[in-house]
Amino acid sequence: MSDIPLLEVRNLSKHYVQRGSLLGQRTDVFKAVDTVSFSLPRGKTLGLVGESGSGKTTIGKCALRLIEPTSGQILFDGQDITHISGGELRRRRSDMQMIYQSPAASLNGRMTIGEIIGEPLWLHERLRGQRRRERVMELLHIVGLKTEHYYRFPHEFSGGQQQRVGIARALAVKPKLLILDEPTSALDVSVQAQVLNLLHELQQQFQLSYLFISHDLSVVRYLCDQVALLYLGKVVELADVETIFTRPKHPYTQALISAIPEPDPDGGREQILLQGDLNLRTPKQGCPFAPRCHVAKLAHCETDVPPLVEVEARHQVSCHLHPSSAHSRN
Ligand code: ADP
Ligand code: MG
Repeated sequence: MSDIPLLEVRNLSKHYVQRGSLLGQRTDVFKAVDTVSFSLPRGKTLGLVGESGSGKTTIGKCALRLIEPTSGQILFDGQDITHISGGELRRRRSDMQMIYQSPAASLNGRMTIGEIIGEPLWLHERLRGQRRRERVMELLHIVGLKTEHYYRFPHEFSGGQQQRVGIARALAVKPKLLILDEPTSALDVSVQAQVLNLLHELQQQFQLSYLFISHDLSVVRYLCDQVALLYLGKVVELADVETIFTRPKHPYTQALISAIPEPDPDGGREQILLQGDLNLRTPKQGCPFAPRCHVAKLAHCETDVPPLVEVEARHQVSCHLHPSSAHSRN
């Protein structure tokens, strides 16, 4: 039973229809997420990394069924939850919680910290009075806050403290999975490390599984077991974290890693400059990354979309320079 991943996403797509022409007659389909597959083992962390607009949040929201996927399947704890609804969906929701980038925006400014953390305890367990208060106090301590914070309001807190409140609120319903959507990117660097430490400790303490969303590859190294790189809604590389950092194969991953500041500036690593952004000349055909690719291009980079293939055990890449070696293993 425990071999079953806690979360599995199969061929997930989310399309948005854009009305293109002046008269609104021509419609274009924009693929915010395009046939994405991954699985998250219990107690582990999978990083979803990509530039802003690459589809990370959309994947997280689809996984939680906060928005409806266009196609694909979502399995939680072995159960296909793609089409469940009503009470069944509500019960599942307490197993999976989302932490957002902006803690201030995700906390109700008119409620005290005690009320904010206590609300899900009422909604899910009908806890109230002294028992709820005790449980909120316990949660405050778990996330490194103090008893005296109970009657304060979110605006009296720093960004890091607000994010701790958000985490306490998410933990109140005893989830198995946390989807962390850039949880530290709005925080100062020193505070980021503290919140990442806290998340690491909580994972050990409560055997949590994390889907960790970030636009910053350097942040994921500390927390993640596996990393999936997203480019324009597609996974372009997926492997164990060490493999991603020591033997990246996709030119996009290589460029992102080369941009991480090195402790030793004379370390000899050459930085690969990524040109433009996601909106730059998105090609109508061929590899979506081709216009920004620094590697010598093969003829079919401009004409064929490279499939995502397993180039070695537990290492998937979609790049024409790395065709599948599956035949050589057989
Ligand atoms: P990320 O979290 O990686 O920054 P998102 O998942 O938020 O990216 O968005 C992926 C793409 O989908 C973006 O180009 C965004 O503009 C588009 N998108 C997101 N939500 C909608 C929507 N409701 N309607 C149309 N386009 C959307
Ligand atoms: Mg996002």
